Amino acid sequence: MNTVSVLLPVAVDRAYTYSVPDGMELAPGDVVVVPLGPRNMLGVVWDGQPDDVPQDKLRPVEAKLDGAIGADMRRFVDWIADYTLSVPGTVLRMVLRVPEAFGPERPVSAVRLAGPPPERMTSARARVLDVVGDGLSWNRSALAQAAGVGTSVINGLVDAGTLEIVWLPAAPVVPAPDPGFAPPVLSLDQAAAAARLRESVAADTFSVTLIEGVTGAGKTEVYFEAVAEALGRGRQVLVLVPEISLTTQFLDRFEARFGARPAEWHSGITSRLRERTWRGVANGDIRAVAGARSALFLPFAEPGLIVVDEEHDPAYKQEDGVIYSARDMAVVRGMIGAFPVMLSSATPSIESRANAERGRYAHVVLPDRFGGSLPDIKAIDMRVDGPERGRFLSPVLIKAVEETIAGGEQALLFLNRRGYAPLTLCRRCGFRFECPNCSAWLVEHRFRRELCCHHCGHTIRRPDRCPNCDAEDSLVPCGPGVERIAEEAAATFADARILMLSSDLVGSIAELRNRFAMVERGEVDLVIGTQLVAKGHNFPHLALVGVIDADIGLATADPRAAERTFQLLQQVTGRAGRHRDGGRGLIQTFDPDHPVMRAIVSGDREAFYAREMEQRERQRLPPFGRLAAIVVSGRNQQEAVGHSRALARVVPAAEGVRVLGPAEAPLAVVRGRHRYRFLVQTSRAFELQSWLRQWLAAAPKPRGGVRVSVDVDPVSF
Ligand code: ADP
Ligand code: ZN
Repeated sequence: MNTVSVLLPVAVDRAYTYSVPDGMELAPGDVVVVPLGPRNMLGVVWDGQPDDVPQDKLRPVEAKLDGAIGADMRRFVDWIADYTLSVPGTVLRMVLRVPEAFGPERPVSAVRLAGPPPERMTSARARVLDVVGDGLSWNRSALAQAAGVGTSVINGLVDAGTLEIVWLPAAPVVPAPDPGFAPPVLSLDQAAAAARLRESVAADTFSVTLIEGVTGAGKTEVYFEAVAEALGRGRQVLVLVPEISLTTQFLDRFEARFGARPAEWHSGITSRLRERTWRGVANGDIRAVAGARSALFLPFAEPGLIVVDEEHDPAYKQEDGVIYSARDMAVVRGMIGAFPVMLSSATPSIESRANAERGRYAHVVLPDRFGGSLPDIKAIDMRVDGPERGRFLSPVLIKAVEETIAGGEQALLFLNRRGYAPLTLCRRCGFRFECPNCSAWLVEHRFRRELCCHHCGHTIRRPDRCPNCDAEDSLVPCGPGVERIAEEAAATFADARILMLSSDLVGSIAELRNRFAMVERGEVDLVIGTQLVAKGHNFPHLALVGVIDADIGLATADPRAAERTFQLLQQVTGRAGRHRDGGRGLIQTFDPDHPVMRAIVSGDREAFYAREMEQRERQRLPPFGRLAAIVVSGRNQQEAVGHSRALARVVPAAEGVRVLGPAEAPLAVVRGRHRYRFLVQTSRAFELQSWLRQWLAAAPKPRGGVRVSVDVDPVSF
């Protein structure tokens, strides 16, 4: 009897064996439907010998579907599973997230004129007939919108025989981009950089290039030339962009250069579009995709280039399920597919910087802003020049904002903290609002009149009295969030048009995109925003950036705190003056002598990187050593403690590895789960994964709902 090995998108640690019915031909990569327990599910015929399963236990493959998962993708799945210590099925789940993509393609229904006018004519019906008078086929909801009626009116006309339903083949998701559509005129530096990138693409083999250039240097413009080269060679291109869902600016720029938009891939697209995009990528109809990290798992038919824009961005790390870094896995994808990968940033990660210095990555540098100079940055020492108690905008910053607005330009106030206040307490009894599920304070959101946990979403209405001592009017907010800054700004700059950009206030992606567009068009004077605004946006009218509490990110034990803060401050101040000279940045800090603040003010990035690099090397931290975090969590604290102790007892002895912990994780309780953490630190050459596997296998199976998660190369602590 013929059998095959089938990998299922579920958390079991191996592929299952099925029998192949007579007449069915199967090869690795084929997508099949197989029974599992009482139900049927999608799976993929996997490489390798099927297990020996007794004849009477074997169940047959039910059906073979359209579409296949190519050999590269299968290797990619196995590679990630191996590296992250996940089971391959959970990685495969990220590839098969679009189950509808494997049946026959559904055509699109439309309506058009087919018969005489209905016997009963209404004004709504007449309006519809006016619109469809030209005999074209109409999408039902588009027609309803054009005629200003509900779709029921259209359905009524179909029933009456006046309109008929027709089935059309689906139009392509996006037209093909044209590499020669509108080539830019590049500066000398840019042209030299573009030539090197084009060469890497032309070499048609695996390579990694770090594109490093100050904000506004034209990195996008330059890597578009690599995109053009790949498209011209008949290859597909993927550009990973953090927060692609938030702005259409990237899509607009792509269209201006290539005459067509790339297909979009992120969690905000409809399931219908998702299905069609998946198919288009698989069959090669779609040549370019701009996407969030999950786009890495799209089955490109002819991949020729991946660009990771803002490669330092923490959004590239997936922190639950399969814990992986999309930036690192993009490099792996290129290695497996033998094509180039490009990482772009104004503030590269220490890891990528080190790889460039060691010569493992090519390094393309754009040292100057295109058509302008970098903003002039100054620190405001809040110990000396701060505002009165209870206020957060210093007089120097207020004056600068006033000048900017009076000059007809835009200002941005940035605070990396959502909500109104990070802590609310009772002035009388000292009560503090804490989350019942997490070790965290509840954050006040004044506009919604709520107190809310930013870790689990637990939300309560803000009471008028203290829940502890019942005092009235005794609750006071402590510290600022963006909402509080917006309130102070509204009182301070009474005539300014102020817009707030924070994910809490804006419900839909469309609304957020709309707000970004208003800023781009110069329809607001003052923008108040969280880190949402720090990322890659181009605000042509923005002349001043004020950072409210620049020290926030430094007060943690996270070894990456300085790097993160440097990146964030550099990125956000880099939004100023992108289209003219004379942009300004003002940074409110209580620690102006901190190396991060000095680097930002002096603009001496090399000194900052050199110092960070030296510290990492001294502490044997990545990229000079390897790191993994093992988190043991459970609702029952005793069980969680018990299992972490059991793990501690079986740590395998080995040269070149140090295990710290177990200790309470920095967030000791999240969503009602108590968390204990080990940190594993090893030398660079150490076989981390096999050692971890050996360790975890030596411990008893976790009980009582205890979970063990493994984070190889953790990025936040
Ligand atoms: P970066 O990605 O390095 O921050 P961008 O590619 O966004 O820089 O470029 C910054 C701005 O300068 C953009 O508005 C871009 O269109 C413009 N720009 C850069 N290079 C050129 C060029 N060669 N010709 C015209 N405009 C350019
Ligand atoms: Zn919580």
